[in-house]
Formats: sequence, C-alpha cells, structure tokens
Amino acid sequence: MTDAAIIDGKVHADRLREKVAAEVRRLKDGRGLTPALAVVLVGDDPASHVYVKAKGKQTVAAGMESIEHRLPADTSEAHLLALIDTLNGDPAVHGILVQLPLPGHIDEGAVIAAVDPAKDVDGFHPVNVGRLWSGDARALVPCTPYGCLLMLKETLGDLGGRRALVLGRSNIVGKPMAALLLGESCTVTIAHSRTADLAQRCREADILVAAVGRPRLVPGDWVKPGATVIDVGINRIEAPEKGPGKTRIVGDVDFATAVTVAGAITPVPGGVGPMTICCLLRNTVVAACRQAGLADPDL
Ligand code: NAD
Repeated sequence: MTDAAIIDGKVHADRLREKVAAEVRRLKDGRGLTPALAVVLVGDDPASHVYVKAKGKQTVAAGMESIEHRLPADTSEAHLLALIDTLNGDPAVHGILVQLPLPGHIDEGAVIAAVDPAKDVDGFHPVNVGRLWSGDARALVPCTPYGCLLMLKETLGDLGGRRALVLGRSNIVGKPMAALLLGESCTVTIAHSRTADLAQRCREADILVAAVGRPRLVPGDWVKPGATVIDVGINRIEAPEKGPGKTRIVGDVDFATAVTVAGAITPVPGGVGPMTICCLLRNTVVAACRQAGLADPDL
C-alpha cells in the first residue's frame, strides 16, 4: 500500500491567512473598519507568553489591530472581570480572548461567561457552545476544531455519512470537534479515557481526530485503511538521538505506522497547529462584520 497523502497545515493556513487579509483590506477600504482583537494574559506561564506573542504578530500581519493586556499573576478576579467589561463595551474592540490557563485563584468559568458572546472569538462562552450544538450559524466556533474541519472539508469534500471518531472530550477540542462533524452529517463517536475497546472503535472510523495529549497513543493498526487522520496532539518527548537533554514534538498518533495505512494524515508539527491562529483571525473578522451589521464573510 502507498503512503497516505500528507495534509499540510501550513499550506491550508497560508490560504486562509490570505483570504482573511483580503477581507480585512475590503473592510478597511470599503467601510473604514479595522477589525481589532484584544488578548488578555494573566501571569507568567512561558508557553502562554509565546502563544500571545504569536497571536499578536499574526493579527498585525493580517492588517488588523492587536491590543494586548498583560496582567500580573496576582491580579484579582474582580479586576480581570472589570477589564473584560470595559472591552465588552468598547466598540473599537471586536474580539476578546482571555489566554488560558488562568492562575488558580481565578474562576475560569466565570471569566469565560463574562465575555460578550458576540466578541468571544475563542468560542468558549456557553451561548456559543449552545449555538454550535443546536446548529445555529451565529455560533463563534473554537479555533482548533474549526481548523481541523476546514482541512477535512478541503481534503474530502462532502463529509456527510462518514463515520467519524473523535478521541478526547475536552471543551476546547473534542466536544466542539464532535459538534462540527455532526453538523456536517457525519456519524460521530466520541471516545475518551474510559472508552472500552478503543482500538476497535478507531478501526471503524473513516475520519479519526485524535485530541488526547498522549504521545503516539494511536498506532497504525488502529487506523482503518484509507481513513483520514487529523492529529491534534502536541506532546514534547525526549529525543536522545538529537543529543543529550534534547526534546521534540510528536502527536497523539504514531505517524510512522499510521502513514502507511491512512488515506490522508496531518503531520505533527505542521498539521493542525498552523491553522489554529489563522482561525482566530478568521473569527475576529467574522465578529467584526457581525458587529457592523454586515453579512458573514466567506471564510
Ligand atoms: P485535555 O487534556 O483537556 O483532554 C484530553 C482528552 O483525552 C480527555 O477528554 C481524556 O478523556 C482523553 N484521554 C486521555 N487519555 C486517554 C486515553 N489513554 N485514551 C483515550 N482518551 C484519553 O486536552 P486538550 O486540551 O483537548 O488537548 C489535547 C491535545 O491537543 C494536547 O496534546 C494539546 O496540546 C493539543 N492541542 C493542540 C492544539 C493545536 O493548536 N494544535 C490546540 C489545543 C490542544
């Protein structure tokens, strides 16, 4: 059997980024509207600082305005909620993202619920979750699963009738991914740490999305021949072959064995990762259009 087609997330992301930038130019030139994304970061988590920097850079590169609020780790919940209230009421801010995780003394659920659903470009607010599950097109959809869906549709075309298995049930990836696939008329199974006979469930799937956070959990012999595999996992493992103390990133799927069985597969890195921030830019443009009373852009 020949190896799977590689779903190159960078190519998909570049395409979406160009479409977003073109839409931003159209809004600026035609309407004098510059979409603006406010990112709020609380504390010193190094990974969060890297993500926020990358988000700001890409927002500006797409022609949008990036507003950053970096707050100390001991910021009170009341202070954070007051800032969100101010951003909610600011007509020049179209998207609000509070970088997670938050320090332990802050109630994440309360913070997520405080963001205006119209500006909730992470798609985590209960109103957007409800809209997504009820098939309401006004939902703002979480960025990582939305990026996965775009790549699946560009790879496979119509997804209707296919068997999809989502491995992982987090609010950020697994559950919204399942809702999106259901919305495309897939027959969806959600598997998780308590699923019995996981290997067999995986082998039944035409579409397998792994979002678990366990390095190479899914070996090639769990993959149905010809299936499309989307690997969301980002796991840092030791890489002695690169030198003492070195590490590298692997996914939740064992790429080396899965690539010989699947029909198409995303690599890690270079698959899902590049799409996530692009979808954040996309959501910000969609939110800006809606707030201006314009039709949704074709993104
Ligand atoms: P999470 O820890 O919130 O959820 C993991 C899920 O996997 C849980 O629902 C759990 O039930 C399930 N699980 C754990 N062990 C299992 C096992 N042995 N068998 C079956 N299911 C098991 O994680 P998350 O936030 O959904 O992220 C999942 C992975 O995706 C992580 O590696 C994360 O780094 C990565 N991620 C990548 C991006 C990106 O942009 N590429 C974005 C978000 C998350």
